[in-house]
Amino acid sequence: MAAPATTAPRPPFATVGAPFATVGAPFATVGAPPRPMANGPATWQPPAPAHPSAFGAHANGSHAAAPPPFAGTATAAAAVVTFPGALPTLSQQPSGPPRPPLDVPPTPMQCISQAADPSGVPLAAPSAMRPYVCVDTGNASPRYVRLTTRLIASTSSILDKTRLPLAGIVTPFADPEPGEYDVSVSEWSHEQGPVRCARCRGFLNCFVRVQPNGAWQCNMCGGDNQVSDEYATFLHNLGGRVPAESRFGSVEYLVSGDYVDKKRSRPLRSDYVFLLDASAPSLRSGLFSYSLHVLSLLAREACFAGGAAARVGVVTYDEESVTFFACKAATQRAHKLLIINEADEGFAPVPPEGFMVAAHDVAAVDQLHALVRGRYPDPPTAAQGASLSVGGTALAAVCESLRACGGRVVWLVSSLPSAGQGRLIDRDQQSLVGRDEEATLYGAPKDEQFFNSMATRCAVTAVGVDVIAAGAAFVDLATLAQVPSTTGGTCERIAGFSAANAVHRGTLHRLLTRCVSGTRAMDVTLKVRTSTGLKANQYRSHGLPEDGNLRMALWTHDMSMSVELEHDGTKLEAGSAMAFVQVAALFTSPVDGSRRLRTHTVALAARDNVEQLTASFDSLAVALFWAKVTAQAVVRPPVPLVARAR
Ligand SMILES: [Zn+2]
Repeated sequence: MAAPATTAPRPPFATVGAPFATVGAPFATVGAPPRPMANGPATWQPPAPAHPSAFGAHANGSHAAAPPPFAGTATAAAAVVTFPGALPTLSQQPSGPPRPPLDVPPTPMQCISQAADPSGVPLAAPSAMRPYVCVDTGNASPRYVRLTTRLIASTSSILDKTRLPLAGIVTPFADPEPGEYDVSVSEWSHEQGPVRCARCRGFLNCFVRVQPNGAWQCNMCGGDNQVSDEYATFLHNLGGRVPAESRFGSVEYLVSGDYVDKKRSRPLRSDYVFLLDASAPSLRSGLFSYSLHVLSLLAREACFAGGAAARVGVVTYDEESVTFFACKAATQRAHKLLIINEADEGFAPVPPEGFMVAAHDVAAVDQLHALVRGRYPDPPTAAQGASLSVGGTALAAVCESLRACGGRVVWLVSSLPSAGQGRLIDRDQQSLVGRDEEATLYGAPKDEQFFNSMATRCAVTAVGVDVIAAGAAFVDLATLAQVPSTTGGTCERIAGFSAANAVHRGTLHRLLTRCVSGTRAMDVTLKVRTSTGLKANQYRSHGLPEDGNLRMALWTHDMSMSVELEHDGTKLEAGSAMAFVQVAALFTSPVDGSRRLRTHTVALAARDNVEQLTASFDSLAVALFWAKVTAQAVVRPPVPLVARAR
């Protein structure tokens, strides 16, 4: 087996400004080393990062606890991929062209990933459907930014001939796979923040041209900049080592000053609130009691993202009241129920400290569990209780409580929130179908504005909301889903949930686990910049658009957004020009509450050969982009269409 790519010496700082020699070689497959194993020697050992990771699960580059990807695909070997900054050395060259195992027929995906230009350089990124190990030597991994093409058409008219979209699928907080580096944290930490171009505000990266006198030319806009005295001193103190921002395509900074929201009175916390529906249908189906059971399991399994900093609380609501449970572990006083009987006013009766317990404290979580169960000891009979709930009031109360320090609300819904704030009506009236009144079924509910404004308020205050609708009744998911889609949460449905059904129980357990374990960033503001010749046209994502940025209360490891790119009219010279896409995400770590900024930079070589361009398209990225376009078109029909339906 060839020597692992990471043993190659890193380029000295003097060569940082000359990455253009590697144009056209963004993905050089140099072999298929065995995947590092948790209980045996690994061929490829990533060094420990210079700074602690933002995410505790991957601190120090350890991935022993992570399950291997694609379990069961034993025949699929992982490919090692290098990026611009260093062409494969002689020792890294495979002895011959990669061949599929003789006993396994090639799949369409293998054929696509092996498409190459005459020089042997693969034109496409490694398929997302197959395991691969990515080595970042200047270009962000496709795990973070996967473009629909690896070559850029020199003009828009040439792109039009391919009839394929130019876009990027951005997953800024994806977890690295075993054998890969976590995103490196820069040692540069200064009140002024990362080094940026004075003209376009792009961030310094591996592709800027550095002059010996300390001046540098921005690769995004061509603007000339001067290294500040502080940064020059920082470089000098590194003693010849190359800073992370000049070595890797993905890098993270600890930031302060202007990058911190001055209006926030308290630091963000990893707080989780289980907002449980205690209406009669929920108690009868077992949704209420099984959700509490899963909460205890999650505490035992230490599933909560945020580690030791995570806290959890429970709030319930029924047909007329909302209840906060201040248990002894939280207050060091007697258990206390804080009940809101004013169904039309969702206020916070207690700050988070008053009803939260440490998520890793199993005894405290069990105590909380018992306290909540004690309030609803017996499920009502079929004749008892109404299918009403004050869900809107409860959501408003919880979000008001979390307003200062953010968090994540897991809202379990069994009954339509038909009382209190944001009350909704049952629009699922089949008797109207086929009659003149049918159009009223598709109109917006009267109190739609309530959930709209709740969604915006939650996004701004860093409160993410997940909705799990697990009942048989109509709950108007189309309206409720506005809150998770704006805040970065998820919206799921388990039709006719019954705790007696093992499949239902398993599904609910899986969904709740995902809700509490997936958060990788809080209070996120994301922006995509492009170099001269391109422009970022449109974001397609959940979240709250804000001044050209995308704002999200929380971002999980598997959440992606797409950005549509287009030519700005500037011709890119085929063969010599490069285009760049840079994603910057400002966020708060759920582990330690630190404010961080993560950048991913990707370079594309310009071509005018339609055949080469077509071969470089990533079919899965194209499919995902069209899926996002279609999904958005379905849920947000043009206004005239709705008008005709009425
Ligand atoms: Zn610039």
